[in-house]
Amino acid sequence: MKATIDPFSCLWQAQHSAHSFAVALPPRAHVVVIGAGYTGLSTALQLAEAGRDVVALDAMSIGDGASGRNGGQVIPGLKLNPDELEHRFGEKKGRVLADLVGSAAGYVFDLIQRLSIDCDARQAGWIQAAHHEAALDGLRDRAGQWRSRGADVQILDKAQTRQLLGTSIYQGALLDRRAGQLQPYQYVHGLAAAVRQRGVRIFERCAALQLRRSEGGWTVVTANGEVRADQVVIATNAYSSPLLPALPHTYVTLWSLQAATAPLSDDLLAHVLPGGLPVSDTFRVLRYFRRTQDGRFVLGTRGAFRDALNHGDIARVRAEMLDIYPMLENVPITHCWCGRVAVPAASIPMLSQPEPGLTVALGYYGRGVAMATRMGALVADLVQGLPAEESAYPVTPFKAMPAAPLHRNVARVAANVMRFQDLFERRVRGARR
Ligand SMILES: Cc1cc2nc3c(=O)[nH]c(=O)nc-3n(C[C@H](O)[C@H](O)[C@H](O)COP(=O)(O)OP(=O)(O)OC[C@H]3O[C@@H](n4cnc5c(N)ncnc54)[C@H](O)[C@@H]3O)c2cc1C
Repeated sequence: MKATIDPFSCLWQAQHSAHSFAVALPPRAHVVVIGAGYTGLSTALQLAEAGRDVVALDAMSIGDGASGRNGGQVIPGLKLNPDELEHRFGEKKGRVLADLVGSAAGYVFDLIQRLSIDCDARQAGWIQAAHHEAALDGLRDRAGQWRSRGADVQILDKAQTRQLLGTSIYQGALLDRRAGQLQPYQYVHGLAAAVRQRGVRIFERCAALQLRRSEGGWTVVTANGEVRADQVVIATNAYSSPLLPALPHTYVTLWSLQAATAPLSDDLLAHVLPGGLPVSDTFRVLRYFRRTQDGRFVLGTRGAFRDALNHGDIARVRAEMLDIYPMLENVPITHCWCGRVAVPAASIPMLSQPEPGLTVALGYYGRGVAMATRMGALVADLVQGLPAEESAYPVTPFKAMPAAPLHRNVARVAANVMRFQDLFERRVRGARR
């Protein structure tokens, strides 16, 4: 019998059967972690290994947030270049920060190896492909900055890029050998299993509804009862509710949309991403794409500002696929899904301690596979008493963006303008071909 495919489903979730695990909510714990994606689970892992009694809550099931829906590209660094970090935070702090974010992908691959997580992890590199000469200049600058800090990052010319990508639409590319890819849903479930083995109790479909100060600590109120804790960590990223009134206003939510094709024939595999490395490009509304273990092509781009998908969304991703690989014309799309991305006010992820015993970490802006995992260890250090000023990562004030509700409308308009500019540039490119 032929399996039926729901086109509005996430490929990663369809490839992995997950089982739920929950036991009765305990009355207290040292630490309650709210949100069980990479940030929350990585925090819980470090704390459990340090002997803390940890409870983790998630409003949905493990992997229903961005950690189970992303592109699986494990990219070191942040959207800001290392020189910009040094400029913003001063030479000494900035250098430590650049080293930290530059090693975040390696941190993930080492962790996967240490915990023996089976998630098709491969640290063979990541390509950032330039859609025009000016973008390539920017990549040259970025590569130079990383190389001066000892990183294995190089620039590929147009011919080398075509050889690895199987398309001639890019002018050149940056190749970062520190990076790689994984199956994101298997990774988050592997983390959850490791965390559970270390004694953390995870409660799925158990939303934190309210936070109350109590007995020098906190009471977390859920529909299934209350848990008291000395410390609380909020790791809810772009899925945050107003647990603290300002929380959903500390970032702008964008949606990222992905689709996967059916497995490609050997002939197509020889032409579509023959180098096998994951790619992001430099368009304003960027596309990111990769191949999977079973030979599918998966591409993501900016989605509409909503969770529910329709056939127009599938058509949009298909058009992006065909712009790069016209030979995919007759290959069916079998899965299409989206997820929320948090764009932080300061353009770098936010680590904050709004009140004693309360730590918040979010806002990875498409760099969260590596950085959210790394952030968990930084959060765990603070929870265990490291003074904020000694953290390798800047601990910043917790505040809403000014005029936060307006930002969503601005983001929507900006996304449309950028898409129009990209389409215009592509028309010009098409006319020159
Ligand atoms: C489609 C898509 C593609 C992406 N591609 C990439 C990529 O290729 N590479 C990359 O580096 N990054 C990528 N990202 C970003 C990356 O996935 C995220 O930055 C990262 O997963 C964030 O992890 P997190 O644990 O902070 O948040 P999440 O994984 O979103 O977890 C937050 C959790 O908090 C829970 N929650 C919310 N409110 C409550 C509450 N009140 N009580 C209890 N639980 C609550 C939610 O249910 C959710 O499970 C992508 C994101 C998306 C959406």
